[in-house]
Amino acid sequence: MPDRLNLLNLPPADAERVLRELATSRGEPAYRAAQVVRRLWKNPAPGFAEMTELPAVLRVSLAEHFTIPRLELVTRQQSVDGTQKFLFRLPDGQAIETVMIPDGSRATLCISSQAGCALQCAFCATGRMGFQRNLATWEIAAQVREMRLLDPPVPVTNVVFMGMGEPLMNWKAVDPALTILNSPDGLGIGARHITVSTVGVLPGIVALGERPEQFRLAISIHAPSDALRQELMPINTKYPLAAVIDAAKQFDRRVTFEYVMLGRVNDATEHAIQLARLAKECRAFVNLIPLHEGGGTTFRATPPARIATFARELRAHGVEVAVRKSRGTDISAACGQLRVERLGRRPPRPADQDGHVHVV
Ligand code: SAH
Repeated sequence: MPDRLNLLNLPPADAERVLRELATSRGEPAYRAAQVVRRLWKNPAPGFAEMTELPAVLRVSLAEHFTIPRLELVTRQQSVDGTQKFLFRLPDGQAIETVMIPDGSRATLCISSQAGCALQCAFCATGRMGFQRNLATWEIAAQVREMRLLDPPVPVTNVVFMGMGEPLMNWKAVDPALTILNSPDGLGIGARHITVSTVGVLPGIVALGERPEQFRLAISIHAPSDALRQELMPINTKYPLAAVIDAAKQFDRRVTFEYVMLGRVNDATEHAIQLARLAKECRAFVNLIPLHEGGGTTFRATPPARIATFARELRAHGVEVAVRKSRGTDISAACGQLRVERLGRRPPRPADQDGHVHVV
């Protein structure tokens, strides 16, 4: 059956349109289309066969014309703090990570937008595996869908694009994925509960700002001067600090700065003073992130007491700051760490070689 259309690649309104065409051509009422769309995201079915509310003949013709592919769960790990980490295999054998971080009544899903990453940030495990490929729209949104297909389902209230990859270097797929995540006929997650995290890809920031929904933007700053940022983030040559700060100023919503605390690298008082100046320039909120050590880099985490002082130094300059809790360190939950530890840097294996699932 060649050229079956993958319904999960389409924003719900487009999926409904093609489904309506099929339904009416089969003499079925048009409302069947909305019924199927509900089973794509909201109350997802693993396949057409499980959409038992539909007539059997319709299920058969749906499967002839369309696909609704799954991500294959390879490992599932649970941290003592409740953080869960999922390694999914994609149809071509690539592997991506998704992390679920519970926090009171919230559950934040940290999703990947690329397999690997081209940016090579010095402290990041994903950068070390190199860039493999962009994810398709469905592969991005399906990370949330798969949580709903678990038994019991894992509820998700917030989504952050802080897994593997640079979302704004895959805007073509991320743009419709945002629609699926947010749309009431899709996954129905409020725009204010969806954060796109970027190293500062300027055209992507503009594109995100042009969307009418209130999606949140987080920018990975990590160093308050070009000289240091260049060392940590090679992309700084292409998108230097001043240009990134300017883009943050133009963005019509409040921006968050992410700042990974690297011991004796970017955590001195002078860094706090410089960072405060940048944050105030664009009224940014600053998130201080404790480094997850490991994953093949030699950076050391800033001691917690020094992080607290750094936060005070920023506040003293009138900047709003939060210190992120380090979560899931016992399961290597930082960007790319699980994949690096499990798969090393070997080429992906064919899908039949290791299909076991660990549930801790
Ligand atoms: N490419 C995007 C999104 C993915 S990374 C970006 O860079 O923003 C999400 C965040 O995790 C980034 O701020 C990144 O710098 C941070 N990060 C990467 N490795 C980390 C580690 N080992 N410990 C703590 N944070 C890390």
